[in-house]
Amino acid sequence: MVVASAAGAGTAWFIAAICGVGLVVVLLAWSRATQRRDRDDAQRSLQVRRVKQQLDLVLATSGDVLWELDVRSGVLSRTGIQRLAGPGAPNDIPLSRWREEAIHPDDLEPLRRRVERHVEGDSEGFESEHRIRHDDGEWRWVRARGKVVERDAAGRPLKIAGTTRDIHAHRRAERETRVALEVFRSMSEAVAVIDLDFRFVAVNPAFTRITGYTGSDVIGRGTDLLDSTQHSAEFYQRVRGLVVRSGHWGGEMWQQRKDGGEFLGWIELSEVRDNNGLRTLFVAVVNDVTQKKRAEQELRYLANYDTLTGLPNRTLLSERLSRAIIRARRQESRVAVLYIDLDHFKDINDSLGHAAGDRLLKAAAARLQAAVGPTDTVARLGGDEFTIIVEDLDSIATAERLARELIAAFASPLEVDERHTATITPSIGISLYPDHALVPTDLLKFADTAMYAAKADGRNTFEIYDDAMDAEARRRAAILAALRRALAQDELRLVFQPRLSLRSGGIVGVEALLRWRSAELGEIGPAEFIPLAEESGLILPIGEWVLHQACRTLRQWQDAGLADLSCSVNVSVLQLLRAPLAQQVAAAIAVCGLAPDRLELELTESMVMKNAEETRAVLDQLREVGVRIAIDDFGTGYSSLVYLKRLPIDTLKIDKAFIGDLTDDPDDKAITATIITMAHSLGLQVVAEGVETSEQLVYLRDQGCDEVQGYWLSRPLETDHALGFLRQRLDAARTGQPPPQA
Ligand code: C2E
Ligand code: MG
Ligand code: MG
Repeated sequence: MVVASAAGAGTAWFIAAICGVGLVVVLLAWSRATQRRDRDDAQRSLQVRRVKQQLDLVLATSGDVLWELDVRSGVLSRTGIQRLAGPGAPNDIPLSRWREEAIHPDDLEPLRRRVERHVEGDSEGFESEHRIRHDDGEWRWVRARGKVVERDAAGRPLKIAGTTRDIHAHRRAERETRVALEVFRSMSEAVAVIDLDFRFVAVNPAFTRITGYTGSDVIGRGTDLLDSTQHSAEFYQRVRGLVVRSGHWGGEMWQQRKDGGEFLGWIELSEVRDNNGLRTLFVAVVNDVTQKKRAEQELRYLANYDTLTGLPNRTLLSERLSRAIIRARRQESRVAVLYIDLDHFKDINDSLGHAAGDRLLKAAAARLQAAVGPTDTVARLGGDEFTIIVEDLDSIATAERLARELIAAFASPLEVDERHTATITPSIGISLYPDHALVPTDLLKFADTAMYAAKADGRNTFEIYDDAMDAEARRRAAILAALRRALAQDELRLVFQPRLSLRSGGIVGVEALLRWRSAELGEIGPAEFIPLAEESGLILPIGEWVLHQACRTLRQWQDAGLADLSCSVNVSVLQLLRAPLAQQVAAAIAVCGLAPDRLELELTESMVMKNAEETRAVLDQLREVGVRIAIDDFGTGYSSLVYLKRLPIDTLKIDKAFIGDLTDDPDDKAITATIITMAHSLGLQVVAEGVETSEQLVYLRDQGCDEVQGYWLSRPLETDHALGFLRQRLDAARTGQPPPQA
């Protein structure tokens, strides 16, 4: 302080000086500061500009929009909004208008909630994906991020700022990916994404369903996991090689499931390229076509094979025969066609039932195949008809030898089931290329014709085709065609052969015998047309007609005074097995008002014996109706009389084969005598048929035979003649005159 007072003036000066200096300094400093500030300002604004430029650049390149909401004024200021909402979008927009127009109404509420939560301090910032309107009218997806940047003293937000980014393309891509993924997942085809080393990258549920492998089972593992043993390893290698070279492969491929089972896949393998066109993956789409393939194979099998026996059918046979002929022409060799029909198969079918018949056919097919060996074609044409094609034949004798071997092969019984066997014989017809025909259809037809000739020869034999057979076959066809019209054209009639009682000496009955005069073919004998009628089933309507016609005639004759007369009617096995015979007989009797015991039905011995069980049931029904039953042609079937007696029969008719030689052949004599004695002991009537001489008659009478029928008495007579004959005999008996003879 002293110093200060001692030097007061100086001090003031000093102060002044100081101050002056100071002022200068201050001024200097000020001016320097000003200069610095200016410089700093310039620098800062440069920096700001630079930052702004950088920001603009960032915004421009990122596509982001910068925005700031002044909460108090409610104005939303945006930088670069035109990039998102079109050139017409204003930078500043009142929040109310923004809410009404610029944001999708559905997105407003979620956004508001997010912002609110943030403002309340729940989070650092908020984020929202929503749609804003582009000035072309479209909604575009954006992602906005923001936060409160300024609050008042009470913590209320004053400014909220952030960025908004266009995510439209991203959202679309994401959606597409989602759809693709959904499709991938829900596809019924198995889809596998595979890398360039053929390792699984991804698989869909259908893949798991079809192969049994889940994603975790296969991902990272090689696709050879699915390779099946149905193809060679080279096959799979080749396919992979093709895919690598061309980028694609499509085709059928067997694949192995996880459980070891195999399936046939229709596979499309395609490459996937990235944006740069570089192959990155393969995609395999696999359809399980096993079922489809199986169905196709089944159809092909059905078209070419017989389902019962597994043998080729007619279609495949024709095809193979054609090929055999082509080869034979080239090699100048022969082809034989053997046409085989099983004898009396129908009877077996009818008696044992269709299931047994089917088993028998199978067994017969196997036996045929075994007899010829695996290289020759054995085919089934249907029913009990088989065909064998034999190639490379050097001579006809070879075909004959084979036929003999086939017949021998059928000598032992066939197994029908565990408990039953049946013996069946074949009839075989043979035709040869080029001897008989040059084309398959003719060869088959001629072999068939030869087969019929073998049947006519007594069956269980073979015949080689010759031209005469063809004429015969044509005649058979003509007869059959005419026979179909015979009933409708009223071409059938009955003739009647009388039966004489050796006890009373009177006529006791007649046998009705069928006759046919065809308009086209003339008179045809029953021995020729009845077997055809039986084969074709025509015997059913014809037999019913015979039954009614016989009953009608008998009724007329009884009315005409022949009250005690009875009538025999021949019945075929088919009528017995297929027609309601008992009902038909009952109806015929009822319609004509006949006593049932005036009607006798004749069944041949062989057919009764062959179908013992079935016939028995029908015979019992007939017995109920009250008609008599006779066994016709007895002695030819070698059946046991005792067995026959168990059937409800009344009469035995000894076959005319025994009667014919009766007086010359001691065997026939003995047989006839035995039959008569045994039949009587069993309580049966005996009728001898085919009696032509009085010597035969005398012998029969001596043996105690009950009745005779034959040319000695009368040939079969037309209805009117028969009535005349019967009347005459009746009158003679009444007047005691000796009986006239036919
Ligand atoms: P069948 O029932 O044994 O009839 C007897 C056959 O012997 C008849 O032949 C008859 O004319 C013939 N005959 C009769 N007496 C003599 C004789 O003294 N000597 C010779 N050599 N033959 C004699 P037909 O009329 O030709 O009939 C042949 C076969 O046709 C019959 O044999 C019978 O099995 C069958 N038949 C005839 N008519 C019918 C019918 O209406 N229905 C059925 N299913 N078969 C019938
Ligand atoms: Mg008869
Ligand atoms: Mg007979």
